[in-house]
Amino acid sequence: MIKYDDNLKIFSSSLINDNSFFSGFGTKLVGDGRKLENILNFFSSNNLTYKKLVIPEQIHSVNIEVFESKIKENLEKISETDGVITKEPGVVLTVVTADCSPIIFSDKKNSIIGISHQGWRGSVKRMVQKMVKKMIEVGGNSESIKVAIGPSIGECCYNIDEERYYEFREEFDGYSDKIFHLRGGKRHLNLALLNYLLLLEKGIKKENIDYFPFCTKCDKNRFFSFRRDKKGKQYGEMFSFIMKS
Ligand SMILES: [Zn+2]
Repeated sequence: MIKYDDNLKIFSSSLINDNSFFSGFGTKLVGDGRKLENILNFFSSNNLTYKKLVIPEQIHSVNIEVFESKIKENLEKISETDGVITKEPGVVLTVVTADCSPIIFSDKKNSIIGISHQGWRGSVKRMVQKMVKKMIEVGGNSESIKVAIGPSIGECCYNIDEERYYEFREEFDGYSDKIFHLRGGKRHLNLALLNYLLLLEKGIKKENIDYFPFCTKCDKNRFFSFRRDKKGKQYGEMFSFIMKS
């Protein structure tokens, strides 16, 4: 279940968070995640300690890094990466999104965590499945992997042009009935549902997937939205994170 924490101003998945695993999907109230000071402030003002903060340079790719600390500093940036996986304790993995889908992964049995960012580009290239594959390569098991799909633009607001529609249809023809809808003559895509279906296809159990019910564009009190705010003054991105002790 996805729950809101009034004090921290984040959403989190009860499938993932426990005494040793801590993750969350930040809201607008935490501030623009593209500004490092907002992330640092979130952890310090809530007395949340960690050893290292990892920030990937997101480029809408399907590049995944298996993170191992290389330097002593408590901040490490990774270039050209949209997915990060680690086994190291005390490491906070982060991504920022506004409409794109942030997805958090954990395999508690094998002590692995991961996070990824996927908009339409990452989704059409099955980023979520590449994440599962990589977690298995480093010792994870599809039976024990749990996943939380964070807040993204809903099917209600995500209309796509013909070109993109055909691109998705070609790749995911079997899911057409579920992921596409016609609204006011326009084709809409359900990105979060697509990622959910791709996880099932990859062998992740239904009961091990938490699925976010809201739309970033509709809910302007809690979320930033690229489509709604474009690059205007209101525009920002939410940060999401996971760490383990
Ligand atoms: Zn909407």
